[in-house]
Amino acid sequence: MPDILAEASLPELALLMLAFFGGLTLFNVPIGFALERLLPHRRVFAVPLAEGQYRFELVGNLVFLVVAVTTFTAVLSSGLVRFGETSLLRDGLTFFAVSASFQVYYYGLHRAMHHRALVRFHRWHHRSQVTTPLTGQSMHFVEACAWMIGYAGIPLAMSYVAPIGFWGWTAYLMVNIGGNIVGHSNVELTRSVAGIRWKSINANPFVYHALHHARWTGHYSFQAATMDRLFGTEWKDWPALLQRVMDGKPLRSLKERAEPS
Ligand SMILES: [Zn+2]
Ligand SMILES: [Zn+2]
Repeated sequence: MPDILAEASLPELALLMLAFFGGLTLFNVPIGFALERLLPHRRVFAVPLAEGQYRFELVGNLVFLVVAVTTFTAVLSSGLVRFGETSLLRDGLTFFAVSASFQVYYYGLHRAMHHRALVRFHRWHHRSQVTTPLTGQSMHFVEACAWMIGYAGIPLAMSYVAPIGFWGWTAYLMVNIGGNIVGHSNVELTRSVAGIRWKSINANPFVYHALHHARWTGHYSFQAATMDRLFGTEWKDWPALLQRVMDGKPLRSLKERAEPS
């Protein structure tokens, strides 16, 4: 861990965490809105936002940031995480391991959040039926706490298998947060549908998760379609709908379907 963090007092550490998580939010949210503005012909849903949507999403983001800053201040100040020497190998492996574990963990968490017992905590995120760059981090306090297990708890546990790389962990958090915020924009960035199902093993088009918000009962994966494909929760018509959006024909209803292509 860098000296600036190791030597910081508790309030200083909290301020640094606020700068990290708040800074990433303030950096990525305008990117998402700029993409929506710059690419109107790539709009995903031509459906109006809910009344007061930006307002409740902003509140959700504040909740998420408070939980993230508190969690990371506590975890880093505890000295419990075992960090190894910085090296390309250690940080690269850390990035890969944290990324893979987050995707597996998130899929399980997300399925659980749709269970009757927990769905009341997940409804906050789903109040956004059409998504915006503020939707990604808009969630209930309980769900935000559960995200922290993926962000911090699993890397902490992993560090007892082998010391982790600080920069690999940090880099993954930056990718995760950027992808989560920008990836909820109501716009599609994919260049070509050719081979898209294969490519989605690594990263989903934005339409993919937009359909989760519209339809609720499938597409629980984070970042990539892999977990949905393994567990049979992928809709077959998303490549056809993606093509529609890319042809400049936004989806006009949350219920829109297509023949699987
Ligand atoms: Zn959901
Ligand atoms: Zn979402």
